[in-house]
Amino acid sequence: MLKTKLLNYENYDQAIEILRSGGLAAIPTETVYGLAANIFDRKAVSGIFTAKGRPSDNPLIVHISTMSMVSGLVTEITHKAQALADKFWPGPLTVVLPKTDKVNNTVSGGLNTVAIRMPKHKIALDIINKLGIPLAAPSANRSGGPSPTTAKHVYDDLYGRIDAIVDGGPCEFGVESTVISFTDNAAKILRPGAITREMIEEVIGNTEVDKAVYNKLKSGQTAASPGMKYKHYSPKCKVVIVDGRKEQYIEFVNKIGGGNVYAFCCDEDIPFLKIPYISYGGENNLLEQSKNLFDRLRYCDTINAGIVYVRCPKKAGIGFALYNRLLRSAGFEVINLER
Ligand code: AMP
Ligand code: MG
Repeated sequence: MLKTKLLNYENYDQAIEILRSGGLAAIPTETVYGLAANIFDRKAVSGIFTAKGRPSDNPLIVHISTMSMVSGLVTEITHKAQALADKFWPGPLTVVLPKTDKVNNTVSGGLNTVAIRMPKHKIALDIINKLGIPLAAPSANRSGGPSPTTAKHVYDDLYGRIDAIVDGGPCEFGVESTVISFTDNAAKILRPGAITREMIEEVIGNTEVDKAVYNKLKSGQTAASPGMKYKHYSPKCKVVIVDGRKEQYIEFVNKIGGGNVYAFCCDEDIPFLKIPYISYGGENNLLEQSKNLFDRLRYCDTINAGIVYVRCPKKAGIGFALYNRLLRSAGFEVINLER
């Protein structure tokens, strides 16, 4: 077991030395906490997969701090990718482009493309700048579980398995970056995030959303984003999404009651609920919901919830990203009350 160093705003420079010498450090970003390693150090990068228990064909996102870091990593940057980078970097948008040989297969999960993002969090940017090397960094959680949005979440999952955790406070968005690919010229959203389809279309026009964002992949189907084929964001308890109007949701959960059942609800539902509840935010405050989602899913396991019925978030804006993560947590189990 490693002695994991716990660092913060004042002493995170120590993480730079750790990363320089091939270690693993969890760092804060504006989306979720990332588990970082030097992308050119193949051994360090494989350590990420071991620490997380991540399947080796699930590629990592490369984090950069200046536009000049991109050119060595990709064979070309398309006009559309450049326009999006100009508009949204630093920020929660990841672009997938054809990779050069400088990006090893451990980082790309064997694909001939690489996913790149420039994070906005000051600590992440400062660490990458001072190191002068891009960092491979997936979410800093045990594979399959909810992503970490606080340093405590990282501690709970990875203490003793990595060299350091930098506490930079709770993450601003709480859901992972939007991932968009440009591999066959057409832009396609592989994972929704805080940069929405509407925001993207304002810059580059018509943009497709990959079907795997809202549909379960059939067996044998290949995933455009390998992460989509794995169980993901799931607490130990069973998660079921309940889609319908507020009154329908309340009536539904109140009827179920009993046992180890919880309503995973919005603040406004609380006065009407007759069963135990966990709220993930105000019904119209989608940013608050996205900041809270993974924390509340983790909380479900600390209280040994058996099954949670989730009030479906609004599917607009960042709510669409929330809906996508919830679909995955629920293994696509949705009860539709509108029908
Ligand atoms: P995480 O950082 O843990 O959220 O995981 C990174 C996500 O980015 C996964 O869902 C990957 O499937 C996706 N990703 C990374 N690299 C690529 C790539 N080259 N092509 C498509 N998706 C990618
Ligand atoms: Mg992840």
